[in-house]
Amino acid sequence: MQNESKKSRGGGVISRYRSYLPVSETTPIVTLGEGSTPLVFAPRLSERIDCRVLVKCEGLNPTGSFKDRGMTVAVSKAVESGAQALICASTGNTSASAAAYAACAGIRCAVVLPAGKIASGKLVQAIAHGARIVSINGNFDDALRIVRELGGRDEFAIVNSINPDRIAGQKTAAFEIVDELGDAPDIHILPLGNAGNLTAYTAGYSEYKQLGKSRRLPRMIGIQAEHAAPIFHHRVIEKPETIASAIRIGNPASWEAAQRAINDSSGAVEIVTDHEILEAQSWLAQTEGIFVEPASAAPIAGLLKLAREKRRDLMPMDATVVCTCTGHGLKDPEIVSAKLAAPVAPNIEAVREEITRS
Ligand SMILES: *Cc1c(COP(=O)(O)O)cnc(C)c1O
Repeated sequence: MQNESKKSRGGGVISRYRSYLPVSETTPIVTLGEGSTPLVFAPRLSERIDCRVLVKCEGLNPTGSFKDRGMTVAVSKAVESGAQALICASTGNTSASAAAYAACAGIRCAVVLPAGKIASGKLVQAIAHGARIVSINGNFDDALRIVRELGGRDEFAIVNSINPDRIAGQKTAAFEIVDELGDAPDIHILPLGNAGNLTAYTAGYSEYKQLGKSRRLPRMIGIQAEHAAPIFHHRVIEKPETIASAIRIGNPASWEAAQRAINDSSGAVEIVTDHEILEAQSWLAQTEGIFVEPASAAPIAGLLKLAREKRRDLMPMDATVVCTCTGHGLKDPEIVSAKLAAPVAPNIEAVREEITRS
């Protein structure tokens, strides 16, 4: 019993979906209990877009984003192969996750980050978990290029989504959705950065359909930010810009695979503005009680835009839509805390006036 509980510390996606993942009996499992996140019905969002919308709350993973699903597999495999250190480039969440799983595995972790471009919550996590942090005067795409070269050369195991073990782990989110709904949704919508996650969901849905566990494959819809939309525009964006730092990517690593998945599923790539992202973030938090980081609000903004433009070709009435909210709102607190009003005098009148102010 003791052995068993030690092996399956906190459950996690490998213990839940072991036979679908590239692990063997002898793989040392590194887990923080990731996965099995809530799939929450969103009544007001459903009403606004005339569909049945469920939100997959990936911000409730151990380090606050879906990256943990892939990290448990990638780090377990890295440890199995004798790696002494992990390395990754990151817009924030990959480094937070890698740092935590490296700590759990008792190995080192180096992260290469675009200087000044990482949301504070994510940076704090990498520091807290003891990663070696290297900031570069460049963007994420530069960081990934450097990591690819270093990882090929030295003793580092690369844990970016170019590592297929990451994608394998991330496909478990699709399994969970089908297991819970009894079939795949009609539509799956999520933010697109490096496009690894859309690729992973597609792999998961396809695998389950082949095994007869679901009858349909969802239409895959990816959402990019207006000025960081290489897949939408079919060209590399040299200087991608958006408030949604997790999808501030100009040259996605999984571009081709994602494009194929979108085409094969009669899906689409759409763009939203930063303003629409922030509106959607605040609306979701204030009407559904779900607080997500800006990148995760992008697909919500996308749904609202598609509804506004009456795109019934993509989103028929009453379709079942699953939206992945990829990361927790607390990752990026500055964006919201700027809205706090200035302090008032310490008396009842001033406080009452402030409360009732319209
Ligand atoms: C990594 C990340 C994304 C982008 O996912 P890709 O697999 O790179 O497309 C979106 N949102 C959040 C919160 C992320 O951490």
